[in-house]
Amino acid sequence: MILVNEKVINGIKYNANLTFPNECCGFLSGKRRKQLLNIDKYHPCENISNLPKQEFKINPVCHIKLQKKLRSLDREVIGVYHSHPNGALELSKKDIYYFGDNNLLWFIIALLDANKSNVIAYMKKNDIKEKFMTCEYNIKYE
Ligand SMILES: [Zn+2]
Repeated sequence: MILVNEKVINGIKYNANLTFPNECCGFLSGKRRKQLLNIDKYHPCENISNLPKQEFKINPVCHIKLQKKLRSLDREVIGVYHSHPNGALELSKKDIYYFGDNNLLWFIIALLDANKSNVIAYMKKNDIKEKFMTCEYNIKYE
């Protein structure tokens, strides 16, 4: 089960609006306990792509700094997020190309208009190259 804090969903939507018309990007962190993934924080990073309206490339320094920080907090990186300013719900060809062989979830914020966006989560299917599936997640309200 995937549990995402409401603040995280609102935060990444805000991040996506703020960087429009460019794609925003960052990491999601929390705790992993067997089948339960509990995401409680988001960490915006700089998009260093030369084509930030069409793709994202996370500044690697952001990743390194975050991993150091999380180690001391007993948390880990659970997912990556980025926005689709054009509103596309699906992964782009480039997204699929860069979707690593790691255990990270991918969250996409599809911007429909200034006040409306959808957040979709994807994970890689076991052992099948370039096959992805959307995942259900539950929002934790505080
Ligand atoms: Zn994308």
